Amino acid sequence: MKVDELPVDERLKAVLKERGIEELYPPQAEALKSGALEGRNLVLAIPTASGKTLVSEIVMVNKLIQEGGKAVYLVPLKALAEEKYREFKEWEKLGLKVAATTGDYDSTDDWLGRYDIIVATAEKFDSLLRHGARWINDVKLVVADEVHLIGSYDRGATLEMILTHMLGRAQILALSATVGNAEELAEWLDASLVVSDWRPVQLRRGVFHLGTLIWEDGKVESYPENWYSLVVDAVKRGKGALVFVNTRRSAEKEALALSKLVSSHLTKPEKRALESLASQLEDNPTSEKLKRALRGGVAFHHAGLSRVERTLIEDAFREGLIKVITATPTLSAGVNLPSFRVIIRDTKRYAGFGWTDIPVLEIQQMMGRAGRPRYDKYGEAIIVARTDEPGKLMERYIRGKPEKLFSMLANEQAFRSQVLALITNFGIRSFPELVRFLERTFYAHQRKDLSSLEYKAKEVVYFLIENEFIDLDLEDRFIPLPFGKRTSQLYIDPLTAKKFKDAFPAIERNPNPFGIFQLIASTPDMATLTARRREMEDYLDLAYELEDKLYASIPYYEDSRFQGFLGQVKTAKVLLDWINEVPEARIYETYSIDPGDLYRLLELADWLMYSLIELYKLFEPKEEILNYLRDLHLRLRHGVREELLELVRLPNIGRKRARALYNAGFRSVEAIANAKPAELLAVEGIGAKILDGIYRHLGIEKRVTEEKPKRKGTLEDFLR
Ligand code: ADP
Repeated sequence: MKVDELPVDERLKAVLKERGIEELYPPQAEALKSGALEGRNLVLAIPTASGKTLVSEIVMVNKLIQEGGKAVYLVPLKALAEEKYREFKEWEKLGLKVAATTGDYDSTDDWLGRYDIIVATAEKFDSLLRHGARWINDVKLVVADEVHLIGSYDRGATLEMILTHMLGRAQILALSATVGNAEELAEWLDASLVVSDWRPVQLRRGVFHLGTLIWEDGKVESYPENWYSLVVDAVKRGKGALVFVNTRRSAEKEALALSKLVSSHLTKPEKRALESLASQLEDNPTSEKLKRALRGGVAFHHAGLSRVERTLIEDAFREGLIKVITATPTLSAGVNLPSFRVIIRDTKRYAGFGWTDIPVLEIQQMMGRAGRPRYDKYGEAIIVARTDEPGKLMERYIRGKPEKLFSMLANEQAFRSQVLALITNFGIRSFPELVRFLERTFYAHQRKDLSSLEYKAKEVVYFLIENEFIDLDLEDRFIPLPFGKRTSQLYIDPLTAKKFKDAFPAIERNPNPFGIFQLIASTPDMATLTARRREMEDYLDLAYELEDKLYASIPYYEDSRFQGFLGQVKTAKVLLDWINEVPEARIYETYSIDPGDLYRLLELADWLMYSLIELYKLFEPKEEILNYLRDLHLRLRHGVREELLELVRLPNIGRKRARALYNAGFRSVEAIANAKPAELLAVEGIGAKILDGIYRHLGIEKRVTEEKPKRKGTLEDFLR
């Protein structure tokens, strides 16, 4: 179908053509003829990169132009929210306003009321629903990207609940990878179903075993024994390769090994460009490895990298400067990063108690990254047989069908939190009403029998009553209590809230960072670190040393909580180092964590600390304790000692600049206000822009003239 033939607004077609899109892909055409343009719900299950986003854009923009209202586009990751936001910005040409929202779960974000297309993570939108933001009534369309995540253990319940809430209130477009039971999903959503294997670039799939590459059509090719030869071969042909492995450390190790092999195929200008790319990275143990790999035209990509590093790598790979990326599967879900050849080194991964096969759905998503539209006539996806026989892998992953999706609503943690929200934020007033709501979920649609979920719901309700989240009146009707309502708005697990509440008396008696950080680390909402075997003794010693600061007792060695506890101590110690201004690089090294880990840890700790304070306010708070907690929160947010608290309240002053100012003798806001601009500009990290901002913040009128930056390594420098 030609874009011209689309029954949509002419202005929309014009923008598509400007983008160079003249013709729709066959599944796109089918999807747009399915009734979606007339307002019908749609489940679109087609391979990655075959144009799902475009379908949703057409439906979304057409609807908004014709009917007004808002569209919400749900994504699973923050990084994806940014990507989609940038893509959708283009529609501002037609007068639609686009916004993205991800963090801060305690807000109605009224500002979003001014926008037409809102990109949000599922968790963020769930929290907005709980806050009852008024603009939500204007939402006419919800697009759920990567809807197959409904089957994910920790994230599925959120997505399922959002869709249950919005079903019947807004049109729903559910975009999915190919799954085993798309029909079931479509039935639940009362949606048209479009399923297809069609891809814009052909895909050849095969299995590699000790030098023999067997393609799915039976053709056989010979290579040197090691699978590295597949990578080198792609590079020699002027193409790139994406290698999927099962752990971060493997990604790093293989990147370094491949870098040595790929390096000899680089041109001089490429080497120079890679060198300059490497020089843009900061200094820490992870980027040291990355730099070494980069010099050979290879990079690794995993959740331990910082966002800046990830984007840098993705862009350089798209440009063809980086030839090979070794990645953990996080890359396969989401980020649009196609490559001529995809190599899957691992089909098993370690999950808690042992090795398990990676689901077909995931492997197929990785394989789906092969072939760059417009550049490659076809793409190649090759599974390396290391642990399983090649024939078995061919059957399972290439000829086999992806798994069915199963509702994860019954996952205890998620369910507890959702039931509370239903009662305190969504007006469910009695148990029969709760059951009626649950009857509309995917869980109920799939299982037909709700009795075991009802039983679980009852247990949750008892727990909520017992811990004063809710109450019952004489007619057995639910009464939401402030503690429950606030817990739900703060978007934390009721179990976390209970732990906080139980600890308040102890915190009042003995407020201290270590105790509070261990408490935070002991909640189910924290991504607590694990203590390695060789570290266990050290953390046990530390716990005994600081025992009088803890609000929990140290479990015995035989106790099942023992190992978890040591992980909490380790996590608390990292946070303690952070607020004592230990440099990041030293933290990464001491605890063997990556920058991305520290970032996530701090982000979560920040949110939990905020929640702790908010909940404390409900229980006759003592002013001095409240102030103590607020200061600690600020120290946690900025990673500073107490003496810098005054300085980090200034705009754009973080731990490094505050420390530099303090050490240069500017120890208070007053001292800064009284200093001459030139004196402040001499402090490391303080430039004219920053200083201007500070003056504006303080309402001071001083002229800032930028000093010439001192450049190291200039001739002048040398002669001096
Ligand atoms: P998906 O969401 O299925 O992963 P995308 O919508 O991101 O895939 O599409 C992948 C790429 O294909 C994008 O760069 C998009 O602009 C391009 N694309 C989509 N539909 C068409 C089309 N009909 N013609 C040309 N390019 C298209």
